[in-house]
Amino acid sequence: MKDCIFCKIIAGEIPCNKVYEDNNTLAFLDIKPVNKGHCLVLSKEHSENLLDTKEEHLKAIMITTKKVAEAVMEATKAQGFNIHINTKEAAGQVVNHTHFHIIPRFTKDNLKLWPQHSLEEKEMQEIAKKIKAAVI
Ligand code: 5GP
Ligand code: ZN
Repeated sequence: MKDCIFCKIIAGEIPCNKVYEDNNTLAFLDIKPVNKGHCLVLSKEHSENLLDTKEEHLKAIMITTKKVAEAVMEATKAQGFNIHINTKEAAGQVVNHTHFHIIPRFTKDNLKLWPQHSLEEKEMQEIAKKIKAAVI
């Protein structure tokens, strides 16, 4: 895809710190890591986000993500990792080529995840009903 920065990385037009590649997927270091060893995993075929990615490509991305996450754990001596996917601008997606983040985590890295809150049981049931009805 013309004008897609990750397609340019796949084509070798822009350099990256590659950590893994196979026929369908590529993994490289994020240029601005949350923690050292933060990697991105993507399919070599362009899609905008998770929702328009073919299932076969999602499977390939997930298999590579697991493989690379194990390597990240080993190389960084991380105690855990987060797999993170931003989908659409409202969720912070900046590069519109589907990619999974692998973020190595350490017990004392002081990163905080989402703030959570409670809902009334009625609201919980209403939203569960709507989502259930929308599942294709
Ligand atoms: P998003 O918010 O779209 O999920 O994340 C895009 C990620 O790509 C960001 O974490 C950003 O640091 C990373 N990124 C953007 N441009 C480049 C680049 O040219 N090279 C590399 N290696 N990472 C990039
Ligand atoms: Zn692309």
